[in-house]
Amino acid sequence: MNLHEYQGKEILSSFGVGIQRGIVATTPEEAVEAAKKLTEETGTGWHVIKAQVHAGGRGKGGGVKLAKNLKEVSEIADQIIGMNLVTPQTSAEGKKVHQVLVAEDVYYPGDSEPEEYYMSVLLDRANGTNMIMYSPEGGMDIEAVAEKTPDRIFTESIDPATGILPFQARKIAFNLGLSGKAFKEMSKFVTALYTAYLKSDSSLFEINPVLKTSDDNILAVDAKVTLDDSALFRHKDYAALRDVREEDPTEVEAKEAGLSYVNLDGNVGCMVNGAGLAMATMDLIKQAGGEPANFLDVGGTADAKRVEEAFRLILQDEKVEAILINIFGGIVRCDRVAAGVVEAYKNMGDMIKVPIIVRLQGTNADIAKELIDNSGLNVESAVLFQEAADKVHEVLN
Ligand code: GDP
Ligand code: MN
Repeated sequence: MNLHEYQGKEILSSFGVGIQRGIVATTPEEAVEAAKKLTEETGTGWHVIKAQVHAGGRGKGGGVKLAKNLKEVSEIADQIIGMNLVTPQTSAEGKKVHQVLVAEDVYYPGDSEPEEYYMSVLLDRANGTNMIMYSPEGGMDIEAVAEKTPDRIFTESIDPATGILPFQARKIAFNLGLSGKAFKEMSKFVTALYTAYLKSDSSLFEINPVLKTSDDNILAVDAKVTLDDSALFRHKDYAALRDVREEDPTEVEAKEAGLSYVNLDGNVGCMVNGAGLAMATMDLIKQAGGEPANFLDVGGTADAKRVEEAFRLILQDEKVEAILINIFGGIVRCDRVAAGVVEAYKNMGDMIKVPIIVRLQGTNADIAKELIDNSGLNVESAVLFQEAADKVHEVLN
């Protein structure tokens, strides 16, 4: 589950990570109130108004702006709230902004220049550890840094059994080129950040930029936090942080039906049981000259109700020109799935306008094929993987 910047920062702060403070607002009036309150708390007269959407690159899209007085706070909030923010990470239509974070300006001048760094905490699957990835080249496109100057990106493996060790935090601060107070503050920051990642059961933290202020404090200015869905049961209070407005409506519907669904750009809808088989099926579709319209794992219990729900989800996608059902009957018997497909098809009546290819393999596959072939419906059956691919190819051409 992805969080908004302001929610991510609240979690960081609750574990003692230094953050750029802010208050969320949904109207220009609320934004002005928030700015006044921040001025009382922090003494700053300048504020940054930041669009809260689930996408990075907001600054580039005009979703992050500096306000030097309350009039500007109101004007900028008015401009950003309600806009469709287009960034390098959104679609061409962009994302509607429902709220802004009014944050204290932390780039004030002082004894030294503010400096921006990049830092993320994530899983290192290859090593079976957590990892802190960081770079002195923060603030900008980390992808560009990775491409042009990969030696400027450092990684530190953190063994989950020992947690982050003091020497590791110091090494990171050193590699970022810090000394004196900033060095100590960065060591504390890194340690707190790793603890927050672990305790919140997150699967990704991306803080870009981490800022060294002109008076040598270390703050998270941005926060992209992804919580591990499978651990949400341990954090009842985090469930309320979900903002379904930011999610794909079809994917939300799928989640509610207990299906694992990811919307893609192609023209062949697929319904499969098991994530591995779903991946193989997507490869098969590509090989047959199509493009998968979705990833859809109906799970172990492919009964009529689930098959029907899955059909509905796939059919909502107007790009779909054919549907491939590829089910392995291990736990669930093929004849039950076939009966489910036939029943769902009949229930959906004339909603289904595209050809359907069904490949059922495993327990009772022969009975299943007979059921499909004798149903009198516009459904083609296949036994072999290749046969299914050929039929997909046929209907697309
Ligand atoms: P992103 O564009 O979605 O990654 O949003 P960020 O939260 O990273 O903000 C984008 C940029 O806004 C940062 O890289 C900073 O350069 C700038 N910015 C953020 N906070 C402040 C601030 O307090 N003062 C000033 N002057 N600039 C800021
Ligand atoms: Mn950022």
